[in-house]
Amino acid sequence: VVVFDLGKVLLDFDYAIAARRFISRCRMGVRQILQLIDQSPLLHAYETGLISTDEFFAKIQSIMGFQGEQAEFEQILGDIFTPIEPMVQLLEDLRSRGYPTFVFSNTNELTVRFIRKAFPFYSRFSGYILSFEQRVMKPDPRIYTVLERASGCAAREILYLDDRPENITAAIGRGWQAVLHENPEKSQSVCRGLGLIP
Ligand SMILES: [Mg+2]
Repeated sequence: VVVFDLGKVLLDFDYAIAARRFISRCRMGVRQILQLIDQSPLLHAYETGLISTDEFFAKIQSIMGFQGEQAEFEQILGDIFTPIEPMVQLLEDLRSRGYPTFVFSNTNELTVRFIRKAFPFYSRFSGYILSFEQRVMKPDPRIYTVLERASGCAAREILYLDDRPENITAAIGRGWQAVLHENPEKSQSVCRGLGLIP
């Protein structure tokens, strides 16, 4: 099985795009908005499944003074992604050669809903292990166990690509073949070296 992180591996993203769009719809400036939507304790709670989408949105509305509906919020928060095309191609190459593929991501329901609508490749994985559904985030060992069980693979049969060193370190500790994604060329050549693609 080949396991992909999403952010900065298959999808590039920039929270500043959302922050700039939010300023006309709330009472905060770009920097304050960024602190709230990128790596905040609130986002962490949401991506760990400790609060629901409705609760997250209600909190954001009161803190930010966001004036729109949830649908508009979802559109602004989600529309920050650009596919990393060589990596989407790598995913398709692996799929066409019969390898199961998994998404393994720290993320949230609003973002996934947006990504599923916007990017057809997202719907073509064999499985999805998402932090907000599992109520635990990488690099916590519990979410790695969930992936091992769901894939039915032994640790050494799992190839994992992620751009965050702490996530890779945790995987290597379990015996996964985990590789720090630094650029598409490196990740492609790892797959080639393992004989997964020509
Ligand atoms: Mg990432």
